[in-house]
Amino acid sequence: MAVETKTTCPYCGTGCGVIARREADGRVSVKGDPDHPANFGRLCSKGSALGETVDLDDRLLHPEIGGRRASWDDALDLVADRFRTAIAEHGPDAVAFYVSGQCLTEDYYVANKLMKGFIGSANIDTNSRLCMSSSVAGHRRAFGADTVPGTYEDLELADLVVLTGSNLAWCHPVLFQRLAAAKAARPEMKVVVIDPRRTMTAEIADLHLSIRADGDVALFLGLLRHLAAHDALDRTYIAAHTRGFHAALAEALALDDAELQALTGLTASETDAFFRLFADTEKVVTCYSQGVNQSSAGTDKVNAILNCHLATGRIGRPGMGPFSLTGQPNAMGGREVGGLANMLAAHMALENPEDRDRVQRFWKAPVIADHAGLKAVDLFRAAADGKIKALWIMATNPVVSLPEADLVRQALRTCPFTVVSDMSGSTDTAREADVLLPALGWGEKDGTVTNSERRISRQRAFLPAPGEAQADWWQIAEVARRLGYGEAFPYQSPAEIFAEHAALSAFENEGARDFDIGAWSRRGGDDYQAMTPFQWPQRQDGSTQARFFADGRFYHADGKARFVAVSPSVVERRTADFPLILNSGRIRDHWHTMTRTGKSARLSSHIAEPFCEIHPRDAAALGIEDAALVAVESPLGRVILRALVTPRQAEGALFAPMHWNDGFAAEARIGALIPGLTDPHSGQPASKNVAVRARPF
Ligand code: SF4
Repeated sequence: MAVETKTTCPYCGTGCGVIARREADGRVSVKGDPDHPANFGRLCSKGSALGETVDLDDRLLHPEIGGRRASWDDALDLVADRFRTAIAEHGPDAVAFYVSGQCLTEDYYVANKLMKGFIGSANIDTNSRLCMSSSVAGHRRAFGADTVPGTYEDLELADLVVLTGSNLAWCHPVLFQRLAAAKAARPEMKVVVIDPRRTMTAEIADLHLSIRADGDVALFLGLLRHLAAHDALDRTYIAAHTRGFHAALAEALALDDAELQALTGLTASETDAFFRLFADTEKVVTCYSQGVNQSSAGTDKVNAILNCHLATGRIGRPGMGPFSLTGQPNAMGGREVGGLANMLAAHMALENPEDRDRVQRFWKAPVIADHAGLKAVDLFRAAADGKIKALWIMATNPVVSLPEADLVRQALRTCPFTVVSDMSGSTDTAREADVLLPALGWGEKDGTVTNSERRISRQRAFLPAPGEAQADWWQIAEVARRLGYGEAFPYQSPAEIFAEHAALSAFENEGARDFDIGAWSRRGGDDYQAMTPFQWPQRQDGSTQARFFADGRFYHADGKARFVAVSPSVVERRTADFPLILNSGRIRDHWHTMTRTGKSARLSSHIAEPFCEIHPRDAAALGIEDAALVAVESPLGRVILRALVTPRQAEGALFAPMHWNDGFAAEARIGALIPGLTDPHSGQPASKNVAVRARPF
């Protein structure tokens, strides 16, 4: 008999609800969940093809040590022994975890607890560092907490939606469908798309601004200047609820028109058209994603956007506010448990001694990390330098996805002991592991994820565990037990972990922190099984909150928001030898390094091979013909791609997808071209502005 299970799509941060149907013969099909508030039954091409990706081809089915099959006991004993020895001989900062926005919240919670509270290091970072850490840093600077103020419904209620650094049509397709439907129903709604490329998202735009790479800070400073000059500020809100406005405005006023045009690459009529729309429209939502975050000025870009919403008081009200779109299915859950090297847990601050003491007491932990750990790029550099003696990577493939990808591979070869937990044993990363641990995948694992609008949903198991695969949380708890911390890691189910996570969120909180799901701290496994999607907060007294900050109450000690005085400078990356700018990103039908979407022939037929978009004039100047092979080189490496000559691409720039790896096509790892330049506040790598050259291959 067929069985239907309500669960959540494991791809983008939209977090769509899915109904998975398993037939008696084992076949799986999916449809959108009409009751899920993220998608109301819609799915995109990736979500619709989930049933085609659950076969057992290429699955890692049992632990391996040194490439040979091993028992769980032997593998876990070895992991615990090597971590114990590394810590004893070199200290807690000589070990590290590198986890993933694919991890469920319960996996993330247990990993973070073990590293920060029991090993005593903050060396746990995540591929979410590449996704939204600039937004986290920007939120914390402006709001005093990592709070997403609004909801998806705001995109439908707005009269102007600004999409900057976001190819929503391909990267958050169901959210794009919702926006397109809202605009079709209310044609007076305006959409502005700010992106160097004319992407599919621009098809619904009233205005497309082909901005110069990293010109965003200047653009939003120009907007702030325009708002001030045209009496479009909410001076009552600024005076009552914020600090730092005059310093921020001074930066904006220092920018003259010529600099604005030079830094943004836009004409005066283009910027004026945008500024007038923003100034004249009360209900504005500004969505931003990796084009903003993945920059050496990513945090400043975020704050330049937040400044404009604070200056107009357009925040936390229906149809108004800044909106960070997270790339991954559980980047938000990772933030909530503190699974980043510079965060603690439950939105508490690693740098705050009272928060550290609070978390240590709650966990009854022997130690607590007291300084930030290594962020992703620095973590692998430290491993390459021999400073990391034991490294555990979960649910991610950094040899393909991280900048300096060749250095990452070298780091894994240099590190004396590397553990990889994954569904596949044949990824570029897994091939470098000393110990491989088979992990559960989508449809097999049980837990929760949080989407971009703070909505927590269940991912439910509806397939049996293949071979000897186990949940990530179980693997971590077993190692914790072997390290002598079994009492603090007694979990028998993800429901128990979620209840502890919820209790920590409410512990000595009393409104001091935004993240509070205390209502779930005393609910049992039956409630967890029956959980329907909900937005946090959901406090012990039952209160909840769809939007934040309309009341002007922020999380800095004085309750006020902060303007951040950001500087508009744009670093010119191009040189005479490398005269083009490479912008990397997703395509519509593949996810990250394709370990799952690559299984679907339907998804692979959309775009079958790695390519690079190039403007016709650049192609002509370089002698590159459409559909010919092209070599793209940076000082770090080379890839071979198929040329796609198109005027949608800005002149002087290339776009190439991030997905392909050496298993699908030789020399196609874009990460091998990208240097490890990072934002100074967030540590997020700059993957959108890379100096390269191109030539026929
Ligand atoms: Fe999955 Fe994102 Fe598509 Fe929704 S929009 S079905 S979450 S990939």
